Amino acid sequence: MLDQEWQLIDQYLRKEFPTDQELWLDYLKFLSASEEEIFISVPNQIYKERVSEKYQPKIDDFMNNRFGKKYPLNVMVEEESEDDIVVLPTPPPSNPNRTYPPKKPQHLYHFLNSKYTFEQFVLGGNSQLAHAAALRISESPGKDYNPFFIYGGVGLGKTHLMQAIGHEIQSNDPVMAVHYATSEQFTNEYINSLQKGKVHAFRLKYRYADILLIDDIQFLEGKEGIQEELFHTFNMLKESGKQMVFTSDRPPRELKTITDRLLSRFASGLVADIKPPDLETRKAIIKKKAHQKDVGLSEEIIHFLANNITQNVRDLEAAVTKVKSIVELLNEKLTLKRVEIELHDVLNSYVGRKNVSVERVQKEVANYYNISYSDMKSKKRTSAIAKPRQIAVYLSKQLTNLSTTELGNEFGGRNHSTIISACQKIDREIQANESTQNDVEHLKIRLLRS
Ligand code: ADP
Ligand code: MG
Repeated sequence: MLDQEWQLIDQYLRKEFPTDQELWLDYLKFLSASEEEIFISVPNQIYKERVSEKYQPKIDDFMNNRFGKKYPLNVMVEEESEDDIVVLPTPPPSNPNRTYPPKKPQHLYHFLNSKYTFEQFVLGGNSQLAHAAALRISESPGKDYNPFFIYGGVGLGKTHLMQAIGHEIQSNDPVMAVHYATSEQFTNEYINSLQKGKVHAFRLKYRYADILLIDDIQFLEGKEGIQEELFHTFNMLKESGKQMVFTSDRPPRELKTITDRLLSRFASGLVADIKPPDLETRKAIIKKKAHQKDVGLSEEIIHFLANNITQNVRDLEAAVTKVKSIVELLNEKLTLKRVEIELHDVLNSYVGRKNVSVERVQKEVANYYNISYSDMKSKKRTSAIAKPRQIAVYLSKQLTNLSTTELGNEFGGRNHSTIISACQKIDREIQANESTQNDVEHLKIRLLRS
C-alpha cells in the first residue's frame, strides 16, 4: 500500500504539531512501506524516542480512521555507534583502479545476468545512441558520460544494456568492483543495514564501488530517505571519477517526487532512451533468441511474431520460448496456424492491454493519409482511398479485438474474406516496400501510445 500514505501522515503531523516542523518533522525520512509497517529513518536516538512517544499515538489514530487498523512505524536511526565510525581511506595512488577497500565476499552482491552482454544485444535504430554510449563507457568508464541515464518502456533492454556495461568492464579489468542493484534492492539493503547497525558496511560497499549500476530509479519516487543516501553515494563516486549508470521508465524530468538536487545529478551526464524496436530489429531479435534457444523458425513465423509483438522485447522472447515448447512437447511440425493458436494468449493479452477502438484506428489512419473519415468507411475503391483503408483494416486486425466479420461491418459492410485479403496484401507490402513498413510502424506506435 502505503507509499503515498506517508505524505498524508506527514501533512497530518505538521498540522497537529506546527511548532515541531523545522526542528523535528523535517528530519523524519520516509524509506519504504509494506502492508504491515512503515519504515522511516531519523538522525539519532532522541528522534526515535520522540517518534514513539509523541507521534506514533497520533499516527495510530490517523491510520485507524483511514484503514481501521494501526500501522506501526519502524524507526531506523542513521547515527552510527562510536566504534562504527571509521575514517574511510583513499585508494593508493599507485593503482587508482584497484578497489579499495578490498572486495567483499561475493555473496554480498547482486549478480549480473550472464546473458546480458553486448554480444547478445541486437542493435537497432531504436537503441543506437544508448548502445554507442554504453560501448564508449565500457572502454573508458568514468570519463565521458558520467552518469549515464537510460530510460524507456518495459522490456526494451535497459537492464540488458546496463549489465552489458558491467560485464565488459569486469572482463577488461577483473579487479574493478562492479555493483549492480535495482533501486528496490538498494532500498532493502539500506534498511537492513540500518536495522542491524551496519550502515557503515553498506556505505563502504556502495561508496567504494568502481562502477555503480542502479536499475529502475522510478522506484525511489517519494522515498526521501533512500534518495538522500543515494545522493551522498552519487557525490562521493562522482568526485572520485567512478562511473555510474541509472535506468528508469521515464526521463529524469518526468520523475515525480524525486528531489531536484538528485534529478539534476541524474541529468548531468548523458541521458539516452531506448524506444520500441522497429520491424527489422524485432526480426533480428527473434532470430537471435531462436538461435540461442536452438529452435528453427521459418521466415513466415518470424514475420508473424515480429508483426504481432511490437512493444516489448521480453514478450518476443517469451513467444520464442513458447514456440520452442510446441516443437519439443507436441512433437509436431511447426506451422503458422499452430503458432497462432498456441500463442493466442500472448497475442491477445498484447492487444487486450491496449484495446484500441476501430474508430480510432480509422480516424488516425485517415488523418495520416489526408482522406476523410467517411471515405474510410465508404465503398469507394480509388487507390488513394483503398490503400489507407487496407492499412486501417490491417492495423484494426492487430490492435482491436474484433473478428474479421465484425471488421467487415466497420469498413463499409465488406465480407470477411475481403478483410483477410486486405491484411495479406499489406503484409506483403510491408515486406516488399520500406515506406509502407515505416508508415505502418509509425501509425502503430501512435495508436499504442495513448
Ligand atoms: P527492461 O530493463 O528495459 O525492462 P530488459 O533489459 O530486462 O528490459 O529486457 C527484457 C528482455 O529482452 C531481456 O531478456 C533482454 O535480454 C531482451 N532484450 C531486450 N532488448 C534486446 C536487444 N536489443 N537484443 C537482444 N535482447 C534484448
Ligand atoms: Mg529492467
